[in-house]
Amino acid sequence: MKRVILIKYGELSTKKGNRNFFINTLYQNIKNKLKSFDVSIFKDRSRMYIEFHDSELEEIKKRLDCVFGIHMYHIAYIVDTNIDSIKNLLIELVHDLSFKTFKVETKRSDKSFPIHSQEMNHLLGGVVLKNKIGVSVDVHNPELFIKLEIREDHSYIYFNAYRGAGGYPIGTQPKGMLMLSGGIDSPVAGYLAMKRGIPIDCVYFEAIPHTSLDARNKVIELSKKLAKYTSEVHLHIVNFTSIQEEIYKNCHPSYCITIMRRMMYRIMEKLANKYHGFAIVNGESVGQVASQTLTSMRVINEVTSMPVLRPVACFDKLEIIDLAKKIDTYDISILPYEDCCTVFVPKHPVINPSLDQAKKEEEKFNFLPMIDYAVDNVDTIVVCETEKEFSDLL
Ligand code: ATP
Ligand code: MG
Repeated sequence: MKRVILIKYGELSTKKGNRNFFINTLYQNIKNKLKSFDVSIFKDRSRMYIEFHDSELEEIKKRLDCVFGIHMYHIAYIVDTNIDSIKNLLIELVHDLSFKTFKVETKRSDKSFPIHSQEMNHLLGGVVLKNKIGVSVDVHNPELFIKLEIREDHSYIYFNAYRGAGGYPIGTQPKGMLMLSGGIDSPVAGYLAMKRGIPIDCVYFEAIPHTSLDARNKVIELSKKLAKYTSEVHLHIVNFTSIQEEIYKNCHPSYCITIMRRMMYRIMEKLANKYHGFAIVNGESVGQVASQTLTSMRVINEVTSMPVLRPVACFDKLEIIDLAKKIDTYDISILPYEDCCTVFVPKHPVINPSLDQAKKEEEKFNFLPMIDYAVDNVDTIVVCETEKEFSDLL
């Protein structure tokens, strides 16, 4: 009995004009994810089919669970589209299953197949009742769902449903530049952006010697977790030390965070231009800290015309934590290493900064060449989900 993985696209079906582009991108992403397995992948307008070896199935499922754009998938038995073959396979399959109640659900995609879905449900229901002793039909709460999909060449019978990662395939949008700190929020923001189809490059601002290499390693570990959803992630490390020191030497303490974040955004925009990014993505959440009031966001955002995506802007911290646990970044994020933001945090940061004042503070030192220098001298690390060799670059 031959089985295939039957993939349903879900949200893609709403993208009428772009459908082929979406499906082809998903196809490529699945192919990349499964490149170390001996599989064959086929696609049509509403389904994708993966032929696999039984011994590899569990590993393949783990990989598929990290591919955005998959709504649902099934491990399905494949059979020729003719009534006798379908009946015979079903008899064989239910023979080995233990259940008391069942329901048959037919989807007839091949409209040339002569028996309608409802008729097929009755017919196959009768076949099961006749060939399996002690079972009955329960249309409301069956123990076993028997699903049949009738397509042109082949039909598929399955009893299971696995929920996919959802979202859109990565690569259906242009790249976003994720500000990745070692905190809880930014990895979650990265995950949510990728789920919308946005490939990401990560950017980490470090302030050695005020921050440690442990802090950097933490960000690398977080990038690895994000790389699970794609093939690899580029992590750009910005040396932010001298800019931060200048800010703290020259600016009023209450404005230091505002100015620091304006500098970060300026660097982000330039990095986006350098690496073909179309948006900045970060883990800001409205009201979480002084720099994340709407007034602060407006003053900070003023330095760039690039879209700034804040996927967790309106989430509660507990909601963000739940997601961080789900994507397995939480335990890394709560490790106690200092971040450049926490090292320099002033006692009383301004909650409602004024744009004029921010500009005046910035006139106190010549930051433009420093920004260009920081952009020209980023260190880039290629981070893969499993490979270890990137650490040689440290
Ligand atoms: P998180 O918000 O991820 O828990 P955090 O609380 O340390 O980390 P905030 O001070 O809340 O960070 O900063 C808001 C956002 O700014 C972060 O979510 C992140 O996107 C970005 N950010 C802060 N510090 C850095 C940094 N050192 N490098 C890169 N991005 C940073
Ligand atoms: Mg935060």
